Parts: sequence; structure tokens; C-alpha cells
Amino acid sequence: MRIVVVGNGVAGMEAALAVRRRDADATITVVSEESDHFFSRTALMYVLCGQLSHRCIEPLERGVYERLRLTRVRARATGLDPEARLLTLADGRTLAYDRLLIACGSRPRPAPWPGSGLRGVGHFVTLQDLAWLEAELHGQQSEPRPPNEWAHLSVSAADSPYGRREVAAETRGRTCGSPLVIGGGLIGIEAVETFLAAGRSPHFVIREDRFWPNPISAAESAWVAEALRGHGALVHLDTHVESMVGDGRGNVDRVVTDKGPLDVDCVVVAIGVVPNTEWLGEAVERDQSGGIVVGDDLQTSAPGVYAAGDCASVRWFDGQRRPEQLWYTGRDQGRVAAQALLGDDVRYRRSTWYNSAKLMDIEYTTAGLVGLDLPGESEWFYEETGAVKSTTRIVSRDGAVIGFNFLGRRWDHEVLIRWINERRSLAWVLDHLGAARFDTELVPPLVIPAAAR
Ligand SMILES: Cc1cc2nc3c(=O)[nH]c(=O)nc-3n(C[C@H](O)[C@H](O)[C@H](O)COP(=O)(O)OP(=O)(O)OC[C@H]3O[C@@H](n4cnc5c(N)ncnc54)[C@H](O)[C@@H]3O)c2cc1C
Repeated sequence: MRIVVVGNGVAGMEAALAVRRRDADATITVVSEESDHFFSRTALMYVLCGQLSHRCIEPLERGVYERLRLTRVRARATGLDPEARLLTLADGRTLAYDRLLIACGSRPRPAPWPGSGLRGVGHFVTLQDLAWLEAELHGQQSEPRPPNEWAHLSVSAADSPYGRREVAAETRGRTCGSPLVIGGGLIGIEAVETFLAAGRSPHFVIREDRFWPNPISAAESAWVAEALRGHGALVHLDTHVESMVGDGRGNVDRVVTDKGPLDVDCVVVAIGVVPNTEWLGEAVERDQSGGIVVGDDLQTSAPGVYAAGDCASVRWFDGQRRPEQLWYTGRDQGRVAAQALLGDDVRYRRSTWYNSAKLMDIEYTTAGLVGLDLPGESEWFYEETGAVKSTTRIVSRDGAVIGFNFLGRRWDHEVLIRWINERRSLAWVLDHLGAARFDTELVPPLVIPAAAR
């Protein structure tokens, strides 16, 4: 059995490891354009902040390919012939397969504004983006590395999300002092945090009238914006970017918005990600977003070809198909894809939604269905304003809790999900809320007064 996996992110690597666990003889080839080693994309910001080294964010030891006999190919896949069962690489080589898993992830959504191609404008999604931002911000990569440690970083042309970026700081002769981040989602706020950690006061331009409008309420959003401002970010809500203007030498110098111009010398565009699937052309069916349409067994429209992770358009709880751009769903899909590659009759079932993050110093936990305004739902809300500031939102429907949204405290999503699956009532959940508590040491417990129930 010749198994080829495109992508060494969490979906691709989980699949390769799970196949090897079951099948000692399969030939497994892992193709990766971005990097030699699997790394945690979710932890990129900690490297940029100088809190973790590059090696620290690699979940597996570097010898894993040799130890588990995974053949590693560092190249860009450029085409697929499903009838001939051949994958084409940019250097002209072809790889024959019996089963193929496409786990090629996302690329940043491109900036639509005139001037977006100026030096000093980029994204924060790939390893090459990290190298670019480190150079813009620190003038060099943040940790001393052996010579050529970064030489493996790019094998790609500049138009690839994994291509090497030109650095404005190099042509200016100084690192960036006035950065700007566009886009009020999680990647945007992470970029803002890295600039703050480096002692800059970044502009944060958000098109909507509040930060992260879908997952959190207006009041919660105002709280996050206040925290950002308190740390020195210059938050511009309800502001639309119109263009970017250069300094005459190809470097970004100004961002023009509908509220006026902003002087900048580095811009991170964080307006979402899209499936990184253009290279597949018509070889497999893709949805409007570019996501590879898969059945519940993660098989694509081409026989023997499967897809998993950010690039796969899977069935959601509402019956619609779209990509799930999350680490843990990529991991779960990779594991299911491994079973499918080995011929098992298997189904990927989306488990109950959860997510957690830290928005500046505000903890955020969500689980289940919140903010969807489903018919018949009711929402219970409590704001804590003592030694700890926090908000608790619990959504119920048909007598059972279906979702949680918490800010300011840390909660154990596994307990919350269990309660949702057990269809617990709001009264029962409020009585037992302490069991889901996940606060750090010395944080006093949440006490909800009887009158607030
Ligand atoms: C800054 C940031 C923070 C995030 N934080 C969180 C978080 O807190 N929680 C969370 O759940 N999710 C988070 N995410 C999302 C999460 O990282 C992704 O959902 C997850 O990494 C996707 O994994 P994947 O394996 O599908 O794809 P990827 O990790 O994108 O891996 C795809 C791999 O495919 C390879 N590839 C792509 N195209 C080709 C090609 N043509 N030829 C050869 N190889 C190719 C590349 O080498 C790439 O490494 C974050 C994302 C970013 C960018």
C-alpha cells in the first residue's frame, strides 16, 4: 500500500502516525511545502514574543520520520491526476499512490486593497510569515540559531504562502515602530499582542463596530477593546481600509481608511484564511470557499483521495458543509482519515463545539451553541464585578443547556460538554458550576447570588 499525505500539519501528521500504528508495511510519504518539521501553528505567537523557541513548538521529536519510516518530501504539490493516481510536484517529480490524503491547510485571505503588495505588508499564518515578522520587529530572528537553521524555511516562490518575504526593516535600516493590524478575529488580536509584547503601540483596525462580533456579545466585546486600549493598542472600530501608500522606495508608509490616514511602517493583514487548494484545479470537487468537498468518510469526489483538516469541507451540525479551521478538529479528522485510508468503514462526526483563548489577560471559554439565536432558545447572563471581573452566559433550549460562553475565568470544556450531552437543566448546571472550574491557583471561586439565578 502506497500512502501519500500532502501536508505535515496536525491533520496530515496525525493521519500518518495513526496509519503507521496499524500498518507496519505501508509506504508512507509525507509531502510538505512549508517546513521540514511538524510544528504547532497555534503557538506561532509565543515564538514571536520570545516566550518559546522554535523547537519548543514542534510537538514531535525531529527524528520521527526516520524512526517511523515516513518518507519526507519537502516540495510543493502542483497537480493531481486522480485517474492515473499521480501527484505532481513543482520540481517535476511525480509520486504514485494507492491512497492519497490531502491535508494542505489554509492560506491567508489576500488583502484586497491597492498598495497591499508593498514591502512591510504581510500576514501571520505560516512559518515564513513568522520569519518575516521577526525580522520586521526584532531586526533578526528572536533566538540565536546555528548558521542556516532557517535555511530550510522556504522552497517556494514569493507568491506562495510559504514563500520568503522581503523585509521593509532591512531597506529602512530600522525595525518597525508603528505597526498596524487589520482584522478583529483571533489571529488579529494575537498579532496585536505580539506587537504590545515588543513594546510597540499597534493600530488595530476593525471593520465592524466591535471586536469579534459573532462569538462574543457587545458588552463582552467592549470589555476586550478596553483591555486592548489599556495595554496600549490604538483600537479603531467601524473603520474601513481603503488603500496603502508607499514611501517611494517600495515600503509601506501609510494606510488610508475612511476615517483618515494612519502613518505605519508594518502591516499585518488578518482578515481570515481560505483553503489552500487552488493547486488542485478540477481534480477534486471544491465548494465556493475552495474547501475540498468530502463525504462523512472524508473521501473526496476522486476515488482513493481523502481530505482532512482546514482544507476539507465537512458536514456541520446544521447539515451544511464548510471547512472547520481548528486545531483539534484537524487532529480528529486526521485520525478518522487514517482509518479510512486503511479501508475501515468509518464516519467523521463533529463533536460538540468548544474553543478557548486568552484575549490579552481575559480568559475566554466557549462550548456548544451560543450566539446563534436559535428559535426557542433563552439566555441566562451574569456579570461578576468583584475581585474578579467575569461574565457568564448560558444558553438553554427545550429545558436543557445547549451552550456556554465565559469571559474572565477559566473553565473545563470537557465538563461543560458532558453537561450539554447529558441535557442538564439550567438550574442543575448553576448548582454544579463549581465542578467545571479551571481557574488558576488563588483565584476565588465564582459565587452567584440567589437573586441572580
Ligand atoms: C496564528 C494562528 C493561531 C491559531 N490559533 C488557534 C487556536 O488557538 N485554536 C485552534 O483550534 N486553532 C487555531 N488556529 C488554527 C489551527 O492552527 C489550524 O486549524 C490547524 O493548524 C490546521 O491544521 P492542518 O493540518 O489542517 O493544516 P496546516 O497546519 O495549515 O498544515 C498544512 C500543511 O500542508 C502543506 N501544504 C500546503 N499546500 C501544499 C502544497 N501545495 N504542496 C505541499 N505541501 C503543502 C504545508 O506544508 C502545511 O504545513 C490558529 C491559526 C493561526 C494561523
